[in-house]
Amino acid sequence: MKTLYIDIETSPNLAYVWSLWRENIPLDRLVDAGQVLSVSWKWRGDKKVTFVSDHSPGHRGMLDETHAALSAADLVVHYNGGPFDIPHLNREFLLAEMAPPAPFQQLDLLRQVRKQFRFPSNKLAHVSTALGLEGKVKHSGFDLWVRCMAGEASAWREMEEYNKRDVVLLEELHDRLGGWLPGAPNARLHSGDETVCPQCGAGDLRREGHAYTQLGKYQRWQCRACGAWSRSSTRVSGTQVRSVS
Ligand SMILES: [Zn+2]
Repeated sequence: MKTLYIDIETSPNLAYVWSLWRENIPLDRLVDAGQVLSVSWKWRGDKKVTFVSDHSPGHRGMLDETHAALSAADLVVHYNGGPFDIPHLNREFLLAEMAPPAPFQQLDLLRQVRKQFRFPSNKLAHVSTALGLEGKVKHSGFDLWVRCMAGEASAWREMEEYNKRDVVLLEELHDRLGGWLPGAPNARLHSGDETVCPQCGAGDLRREGHAYTQLGKYQRWQCRACGAWSRSSTRVSGTQVRSVS
């Protein structure tokens, strides 16, 4: 299974505003819509981290390379990419008159973190450091975006370092969350091996009780590597009759 970790950086919308406080901006005061400035990604199990940007190889080149990476992925892992990164990229692809990338499954780690745990903040910076990971690279603030948009080479180097670190952090967080990610794509389907953990692909499952539905009893397993729970799809025993309500 080819797993891609991806993160984008965008430029802000530019608009005329009358006030710095509590103002809704009508569309006719929008001067310039924000766009994707850079994209970084890495493949699971591969050390190389790729960074493409408006600066290099340029906007269209950035889109072409990102489109190819997404198309080659079975699973795309991101942090808030469900409502943010992927739709931003899709809009860019559409504007550039590109076809959709080949379909891929998505795992939004923010969605999982929000749903399953109660951290005081769900920001990647907080969650990752709370879990003992090294966290994000500090950047010089909004000024960094302004300098990048002005084409300053040193600012782009800083953006590259920042964007790349987020992607490495994504993989670390994915590993750290381990068996807490239900419904992730089934590693068995991809490996063709019926004895591995459907979550992480490790071949170290322990029989741990049974799982019951209305109609059947199934062998339940826990992975010794990631802690994920799974169950066999064939029944140990069952019944043909279920209650109705
Ligand atoms: Zn596992």
